[in-house]
Formats: sequence, structure tokens, C-alpha cells
Amino acid sequence: MKKKVCILYTGGTIGMKPTPQGYAPEAGYLGLVMASMPDFSSPEMPEYVIREYSPLLDSSNMGPRHWLAIARDIADLYRDFDGFVIIHGTDTMAYTASALPFMLEGLAKPVVLTGSQIPLCRVRSDGRENLVTALMVVAQTHIPEVCLCFGNRLLRGCRATKVDAAGFQAFDSPNYPDLGHIGVTIRPHPEHILPARPVNGLTVHPLSDARVGALRLFPGISADLVANVLRSPLQGLVLETYGMGNGPSDDAGLMAVLAEAYERGVVIVNCTQCLRGTVDQGGYAAGSALARAGVVSGADMTAEAALTKMIYLFSLGLPPRDIRAQMPRNLRGELTESHARS
Ligand code: ASP
Repeated sequence: MKKKVCILYTGGTIGMKPTPQGYAPEAGYLGLVMASMPDFSSPEMPEYVIREYSPLLDSSNMGPRHWLAIARDIADLYRDFDGFVIIHGTDTMAYTASALPFMLEGLAKPVVLTGSQIPLCRVRSDGRENLVTALMVVAQTHIPEVCLCFGNRLLRGCRATKVDAAGFQAFDSPNYPDLGHIGVTIRPHPEHILPARPVNGLTVHPLSDARVGALRLFPGISADLVANVLRSPLQGLVLETYGMGNGPSDDAGLMAVLAEAYERGVVIVNCTQCLRGTVDQGGYAAGSALARAGVVSGADMTAEAALTKMIYLFSLGLPPRDIRAQMPRNLRGELTESHARS
């Protein structure tokens, strides 16, 4: 029996058309291009339907309300399909891929995000390969996770980050192995995949409009600037620090600003600016000063995972104390808990 896949088409380069203003999406166009390509009607392909969003978006215009619409559609269509492919722009694909695992609790079917750097209608498009492979992943595997499939890599969604603005290998999973090998065959790596779950247990956690943000430290950053960012109504901040989670500990004013925000209930999570590796706030005095000011470790989470996790936890209505306790815990495979030292 052929598997049934629902393609949720949100927008992105893959379905865009050249216009005098540059590439832009056009309703119905991607379906026409796919119908003209023999790969998509090959007998090896699963059965699929395309559900197109309106308007189609450049993913730079997407946010939490779009993630919620996708999560709700997956829940509504969950029983009718064996899995889902989300066609998405690459620019914020890692954010959507990070948010969905938190929102879709108990997911037991594959949800695979993909897109492309060159539109499907152009010669040399990477979209054909990416979309065919994403459909095949749903058809041939039982990965009960939100994945990101791009450039012949299959990554856990909440571990992925965009690393190349134009290259075909646009995404990486710097702190977690690939969920499978994509070569002549598609071979999942069971040891890296989350355990199977009961198929009927999907719960969607809606997102509220939590006030969270991200701030990248830079040499010379002033206490005033940080104080302005941390002003009410901000509830949570991903602080992108140096190396193993270090900051300007000699700046007593800045440390006082962080401590004062902590007292007001602002949750500040430490993620490293480095692509690879983990935060250890006990490694250097410059990191332990942040811990003393109330900053909690984001371990080896990407900034995308930390931000979306915080939105999810605030949306659950948890108090700051509980959110601080949850941030260094592994909820959906987004961090390596043995790394969550402090
Ligand atoms: N700006 C596009 C988007 O994110 C880029 C892409 O799809 O590759 O929608």
C-alpha cells in the first residue's frame, strides 16, 4: 500500500517564479511545476496532496502564529496521512523546525521540512532533489520526529541551523548526529532517533505571544544597551555569549543589570555564539559570574531551539522559576542533558 503524504506548502524560494522585482511566490504555481516533472508521478513516489497556504510567504515574514497554523493543520489531518512534508523558505526554516517539536507533543509520524536555494522551475534547482528526498523519507521511514531534509542530509529539526546563505548544503546540526544517511538508499540511524510513541497521542500546545528576544554579546556592549533590551514587558532572553558561555564579568554595571532582571522574573538563557560545543558556566570566572546573576545554561542548544523552547514554556503559563528549571532539561531532543552543567 502506498503511503499517503500531506504536503503543507507555506512558501519559500522552491515555489517562486522570476519577476521584474526578483523571485516571488505565485499561488498554484508550484503544483503546476511539480505536475510537469516526471519524478513526482513516478511509481516509487508516495501518494500526496498539496495544501497551499495563502498568502505564500517568504519565510522571513513568518512567526509564531504561522507555526501554530502549521501545527494545527498537522493535528487536524493527522489521522488521514502517514506523514507530512512542509515546504518552507530556508531563511527561518530552522526556527519553524525548532518550534514544531515543542508544539506537537506525542508526535508519532514523520514531519519533514524542506525547501531549496534555487526555484524548482529553474535549471540546476536543488528543489527537485530536496522535495523528492523529503517525500521518500516519509514513504520509507517511520521517524516519529520533526526533521529537516536538505542537501542530502536528514537532521533533527530542533538541532538544525542555517549555515550557508547560498550553498546547497545550507543546514547543519552542529551538536547532534544526522537522523539518517541519504545516499543510494535512505538509511535511518535508529540509535539517534527518538523512541516510537503511541500513534493517537498527539497534543498541540498553542503558543501565546510570549515576549522573548535574543541578544548577541559583542566586545564593548554597554550595560545601558542590555538594560534597554531587558525592560518590561520582556519575559525571556537568549543571551548569545562567547565560547563556553562567557561574558564581560568585569563589567559590574552589566552584571547588576542581569541580576536586577532576574529579580523581576526575566528568564535569561545562555547559548554560545560558537557553532559547535556547549555552555559550561562553571568553566571560567567569566561564565560563573553570569550564573551568579541568574543566567541559566542553554547547554548545546541552538539559539533557534532556545528561543522557541522559551516561547513554548511561557505559553504553558509556567512561572519563571519553573522555566529556568526546564530550559537546561531535554524535552524533545533539543539538547544533550549531560552537558547542562550549570
Ligand atoms: N527568502 C527565502 C525564504 O526564506 C529564501 C529561501 O527560501 O531559500 O523564504
